[in-house]
Amino acid sequence: MIDAQQTVTAKWTDDEPLECVSILPEAPDVVTVCFQAPSGRPFEFLAGQFLTLELPVPGGPIYRTYTISSAPTRPKSLTITIKAQPGSVGTRWIMDNVRPGTRLKVRGPAGRFTSTHFPAKKYLFISAGSGITPMMSMTTEIYDLGRHCDIVFVNCARRPSEIIFKRRLEHMASRIEGLDLKWVVRESDIYQPWTGYQGRFNQLMLGLMAPDYLEREVFCCGPDGFMQAVSEALAGLGFDMAHYHQESFGAPEAGELPVVETGTSADTPVETAKLVFEESGVTHDCSSMDTVLHAARAAGVAIPFGCSMGVCGSCRIRKLSGEVHMVHNGGISDDEIEEGYILACCSNPRGTVTLEA
Ligand SMILES: Cc1cc2nc3c(=O)[nH]c(=O)nc-3n(C[C@H](O)[C@H](O)[C@H](O)COP(=O)(O)OP(=O)(O)OC[C@H]3O[C@@H](n4cnc5c(N)ncnc54)[C@H](O)[C@@H]3O)c2cc1C
Repeated sequence: MIDAQQTVTAKWTDDEPLECVSILPEAPDVVTVCFQAPSGRPFEFLAGQFLTLELPVPGGPIYRTYTISSAPTRPKSLTITIKAQPGSVGTRWIMDNVRPGTRLKVRGPAGRFTSTHFPAKKYLFISAGSGITPMMSMTTEIYDLGRHCDIVFVNCARRPSEIIFKRRLEHMASRIEGLDLKWVVRESDIYQPWTGYQGRFNQLMLGLMAPDYLEREVFCCGPDGFMQAVSEALAGLGFDMAHYHQESFGAPEAGELPVVETGTSADTPVETAKLVFEESGVTHDCSSMDTVLHAARAAGVAIPFGCSMGVCGSCRIRKLSGEVHMVHNGGISDDEIEEGYILACCSNPRGTVTLEA
């Protein structure tokens, strides 16, 4: 039960679980789950950031990362909007099991795919499927603040009925100047005439939708193949890719995302390594090619993890001594590295490494 009467001064932190208060169907296999803090504390995050949820599925917890689809201008609650793909384990578990009153442990918020990190006068948001969630948060924040905005908002879906947030965005666009919505579908719904764009998003559509695209800060989110097509189209048109930002929801292909390397060189020859997990009292021999996460799991030491690609930050642990080679995708800040933290999923041990876990 949420204590709504409590005088609230402090902000919510992830020491406290989230409590589901409602679930809203959005589209086929897509729902929005609304959470509040049991203490009533307000949330503080940047539009576009994500949370990693611990899901107590049978057989032990698993971790899944979801963008906060609501805006920080509405801090008393937050929502995630989740799409279950065929064969989904985690997202499907949420849909089947989370109900009003369910409490879940989470980590975050985190992430740099935000308009705060890349402020601009003009935006071009391009998304497909559930990749619309960070764009929804950023657009709602700008709408709530009542600021002048200049956003070309492109969303691609298989069919019109699968466009997430269509009516809410159209309502916003009817109340402010400068929110220009463009929908692209692959096929129309049966007996529902479609007069918008149809086909695969391409360079020609880009020029028609946003003739001044070269002046815009571009945010792109969707399946990896979609983002690759968008970034190649922009680069081919001479767009300055320093103003292009993308968020991957799945494991990236090698070399697809800008990576940040820290620690010793990757060129070190394969050697034996040793991990000492101090709190668990476990010592484990492994190779310098193993990730700390992989070796920890082999040794029976449970480290929470989510994306396994150095984005979500769920597997952050403190290194007490020794060296690792870490190649992350923005899931850990320079300050955290300075404080001795590493991401287990993308760190390879060099020699003997002692960890807090
Ligand atoms: C930074 C970040 C933000 C994210 N935000 C959202 C969000 O707002 N909404 C949302 O629904 N998801 C989001 N995701 C993706 C989410 O974390 C899960 O990876 C995704 O939902 C798949 O998990 P699952 O439990 O449903 O499926 P799993 O049980 O992990 O996988 C089941 C099947 O789906 C395939 N699969 C796995 N991931 C994807 C994917 N992303 N797309 C298509 N197929 C996939 C697998 O190959 C497998 O066949 C985000 C991910 C990241 C890293």
